[in-house]
Amino acid sequence: MAIEKISRKCTVKHTPICKFLGSDGCEKCSLYKNNVKEYEKAKTNEIWQVTQSNLPWNADQFHQSETCFFCKKRPGNSKAGYAMLDMAHPDPPYEKGMIFGLGSLQRADVGSLIPFPIAICKECRRHYRLAENFKFYSAVVGFLVGLGVVLSVAKTEFIQYSPEYIPIVILLFVMAVVYALGGWISRKLVKKYGDETYFRVFDIPEMAEMAELGWFVYRDEQEKTRLLLTKKKPREHFCFFSDDPRQPGDE
Ligand SMILES: [Zn+2]
Repeated sequence: MAIEKISRKCTVKHTPICKFLGSDGCEKCSLYKNNVKEYEKAKTNEIWQVTQSNLPWNADQFHQSETCFFCKKRPGNSKAGYAMLDMAHPDPPYEKGMIFGLGSLQRADVGSLIPFPIAICKECRRHYRLAENFKFYSAVVGFLVGLGVVLSVAKTEFIQYSPEYIPIVILLFVMAVVYALGGWISRKLVKKYGDETYFRVFDIPEMAEMAELGWFVYRDEQEKTRLLLTKKKPREHFCFFSDDPRQPGDE
């Protein structure tokens, strides 16, 4: 079988990185797909082991749980999908390069960056989408309303005798007003649903250990964490700590 051949010559077979990236088989492993050189695979495995050592032993509960973590009540509603975010940690130390050979090497803020799926229910997903969409659609609506305003005043004397850039100024002004309004409604929604739903991932009580261990959300936002709502995990058998002794190609 093709899979067997591939995995047999892989240097990191059976290692922790194999269980993490290769959990859906060699053919779906990014180390295989991207043709990563063998010594680089070994290096990736070393880095992954540092990353793994910084994760709480029960880090997999966040996606394996059948109930929502974003619900403020416990137990939360039943899981309907996942909220994906980029979780970052300063370790392992990573040096940022010098610019044109000048200056000194600087330690980067992020040494580990991992996809982190968290179980979310229908209700919390709806709350989150509402708040998010108001911000997004207000930009589109602002443009359309602005265009409408410009077109409706285009024939008036005021516009015909004013400088050419005035329609653009009107358009940008209306867009800015509607966008600000959208942001305001979004913040109101976060407040309104804030009794039922956690909008910031590190407000979830179960996340306390992750925070203690030094994890943080990569490029987090003020009132709500930037999330990607999905039906699936990054990989079907996605797991930080696999206890499955079987390996890809082992059938
Ligand atoms: Zn929920």
